[in-house]
Amino acid sequence: MTCSEHIAFASPNALTPTIRGRSLLCRRRAVLKATLAPHDDATVEVHAPPRAPSSASNGVSGPTSDAAGAERWARIQSRAGDTTISVHGGERVRSSKYKAAVLDAIQTPIVQSSTYTFRSTADCIDYNRGNYESFEYARYGNPTTRAAEEKLCALERAEDALLSASGMNAVTTMMLALVPPNGHVVLTTDCYRRTRQFSRTLLPAMGIRTTVIDPADLDALRDAVSSPGGADLFFSESPTNPLIRVVDTPAIARICREHGVITVIDTTFATPVNYRPIPDGADIVLHSGTKYLAGHHDVLCGAIAGRADLISKVRKLHGVLGGVVDPHASFLINRGMKTLAMRMEAHNRNAAALARFLDSHPKTVNVRYPTLKSHVDYEVAQSLFKGFGGVLSFDIRGDGNPWSQNTFDATGRFVDALTIPYIGPSMGGCESLVEQVCIMGYFDQPLKERKRLGITNGIVRFSCGIEDTNDLVNDVAQALEYA
Ligand SMILES: *Cc1c(COP(=O)(O)O)cnc(C)c1O
Repeated sequence: MTCSEHIAFASPNALTPTIRGRSLLCRRRAVLKATLAPHDDATVEVHAPPRAPSSASNGVSGPTSDAAGAERWARIQSRAGDTTISVHGGERVRSSKYKAAVLDAIQTPIVQSSTYTFRSTADCIDYNRGNYESFEYARYGNPTTRAAEEKLCALERAEDALLSASGMNAVTTMMLALVPPNGHVVLTTDCYRRTRQFSRTLLPAMGIRTTVIDPADLDALRDAVSSPGGADLFFSESPTNPLIRVVDTPAIARICREHGVITVIDTTFATPVNYRPIPDGADIVLHSGTKYLAGHHDVLCGAIAGRADLISKVRKLHGVLGGVVDPHASFLINRGMKTLAMRMEAHNRNAAALARFLDSHPKTVNVRYPTLKSHVDYEVAQSLFKGFGGVLSFDIRGDGNPWSQNTFDATGRFVDALTIPYIGPSMGGCESLVEQVCIMGYFDQPLKERKRLGITNGIVRFSCGIEDTNDLVNDVAQALEYA
């Protein structure tokens, strides 16, 4: 609305103090414009009148917050057509009761809004000056999402956190933001398959090279970070999937910090209830919140938490790439996180009991779960973690040859004989899930690639839900009779 429209709009005797104030402001600005003739480098700031920060109407929420605005709206509504009333009626003026209800609701409301409005030009100017807090537009933030970010931040003991649309979006946006062109990323083996795919296909297109090392090989890490050109970012899951490897985060973070390398640990499988990488020196912790954080197999999301300067860099690129989580998803994640500790206790208990049972069963081999002394990272895992989550993997023995048809078939019979777990990918919800790994994520992979990765015909990933422990163990026991 221009100044002249403002004046023409209201008859002189109906001018409210606000409108009169505004038209005065407009006139003052016109004078400024005429006399100042700004330099080419000048920003809009030269046109904007100064305003004391305290006068910003921040905290007085609602599109039409003041009495004068409400009166003005009431007048327009009394003469307006049905469509104008349908669009604005009941929402244009938000009473103090409405505001109190939104702020006092026991649950953070789902703010399903793509845009956030300003009550006046002066507020908009204040926003641009950083004197008025708003999200402005949903790609830059949302209050429901912010609540989830702050909850995760507190759980991880991090300085800041950022939620995004999926775990993969968190991985890719984080790497693109923090690794420069022609940079160098160090990954551990047994990384999430799509993370490996990203680093094999897209990163090289930007000249970014990747070195893959064993999760326990600190010498290989030292070599990689002190190679010519050094490295920019180290990334590992802990525990990994599906081999449930655990990395020595304190030792890794020490080496990385000495060489100016950012340490990122994906603890999707652990959650902050079982392990927090930040107090152990990691710069960023990453989650597929789709799994345990949300916890109910009903929503996709990703998250990073950690050093404020790094999160801020990622947040800026996130606003450009746009992989934003939906406010309703944020609500579900907030709700899921409330029961995280209790759910993790059940997942930990079930997987540990199942690992113990399977470890002594004649039809299974290579049971991988860090409570077992035979686990390759047993010492490190025991010293760092409180529990290891619901996921374990093991091999069905079959005829003793992990690559044979016989073992492939025996494994399928075992999976099909299970009653409680669903057959399916993913994990982290209340329901147990099971998969014969070679036919779930690796169906199209050549044998030589599966041999390199250790994905045998008999490997089973079992993701314990929160069901009663005895029921799960008994179900597995009866199904093994078919293996
Ligand atoms: C599932 C998963 C991802 C990918 O997350 P999405 O939410 O499915 O995009 C990344 N890393 C790990 C360890 C995962 O388990």
